[in-house]
Amino acid sequence: MKEIILAKYGEIILKGGNRPKFENVLLNNIKNAVKNVADINIRIAQATVYVETEPDKIDVVIERMAKIFGIVSITRAAECEKDIEVIKNTAVEYLKDDLTASKRFKVEAKRSDKAFPFSSPEICMEVGGFLDDEYPEIIVDVHNPDVTVKVEVRDFAAYVYCAENKIAGQGGMPIGTGSKATLLLSGGIDSPVAGHMISKRGVTIDAVNFFSFPYTSERAKEKVIELASILAQYTSKINLYIVPFTEIQLQIRDNCPEENMTLIMRRFMMRIAERIARKNKSLALVTGESAGQVASQTLAALDVTNSVVDMPILQPLIGMDKLEIMDRARAIGTFETSILPYEDCCTVFTPKHPTTNPKRANIERTESVLNIEDLVESALAGTEMIEVYPN
Ligand code: ATP
Ligand code: MG
Repeated sequence: MKEIILAKYGEIILKGGNRPKFENVLLNNIKNAVKNVADINIRIAQATVYVETEPDKIDVVIERMAKIFGIVSITRAAECEKDIEVIKNTAVEYLKDDLTASKRFKVEAKRSDKAFPFSSPEICMEVGGFLDDEYPEIIVDVHNPDVTVKVEVRDFAAYVYCAENKIAGQGGMPIGTGSKATLLLSGGIDSPVAGHMISKRGVTIDAVNFFSFPYTSERAKEKVIELASILAQYTSKINLYIVPFTEIQLQIRDNCPEENMTLIMRRFMMRIAERIARKNKSLALVTGESAGQVASQTLAALDVTNSVVDMPILQPLIGMDKLEIMDRARAIGTFETSILPYEDCCTVFTPKHPTTNPKRANIERTESVLNIEDLVESALAGTEMIEVYPN
């Protein structure tokens, strides 16, 4: 019996005339995600992706596909000839484990090939009756089944699977269909989640990290690389820019009022990230701020931070609670790495009493003692780029 993978996609269906373009990007993203683990045959028809591979590669291919944006659900299925007798026998054999482990079942059929001589209700009757005879311990219960047997009669073949074995995909849009944005990636819980949410909309992600050697350790840098490589499981390769930030932080500490330190630091991060973004044809910045979470995330503080940049700043977590953000971090797999206890560049230079209601004019005046342009330029000159691959 031939087993294959069926994946359904979601929002792409709404793309009208552009749909083939989006479908192609999705196919390429799937091929790219599995290329080092399995050889596959892949095609798209009727809003479904069909993937064939070696039987022992099905699990790993499904695992990879579950991280590809654009797919809403994935299942394994038996493929068979479009003949009612063949379909019945395939269901008996393929669903043996599921049916013998359950008490109640029902059959749901879909016939997109209208030339097939049985209607959907007739397919349900035929297959249901046959399974009922073959497995006398299990009864039909259309309201409360443990197992829902799906039969789909499509263009080239029929497919049989158990609905309960279907897993949810990521949803969203395929990466590469939505321009590029630059993520400010710290070692914390929030920014990786923000990056995941924006890339889910089809946006390619570059990442920038500000690094304060020797105040933060080599392990803090490894942690950021690790977070980028977890994100890369969803986005494919990420270009990670590591910006030396120590000189800027020391200058701020020595020359600016302590209560403004964090905000002035954040303004430098935004300026530098914008330069890196423009150089790499990225159209927006992405940060992990959530309104009111800390002093530097009050609306007044966000105004002061964001006003130095002249490009959109996407803050997808802005209305989320910390607990919701943590749940998402667990779901995408970044949480355990984010909570490793290595110091971040901000934690080292944190004021005791940060201002919570800053004014642009005041912050501009207190930072004007610094040679902002020179500091930005020399940080950019010392920036290294690492190509981070999925781990
Ligand atoms: P996170 O958990 O993402 O670190 P946070 O709640 O600790 O966020 P802040 O430290 O105020 O918040 O930082 C706000 C945002 O600024 C972060 O979400 C991230 O996008 C960016 N950011 C902060 N520190 C760094 C850094 N060292 N490198 C790159 N980006 C940073
Ligand atoms: Mg942080």
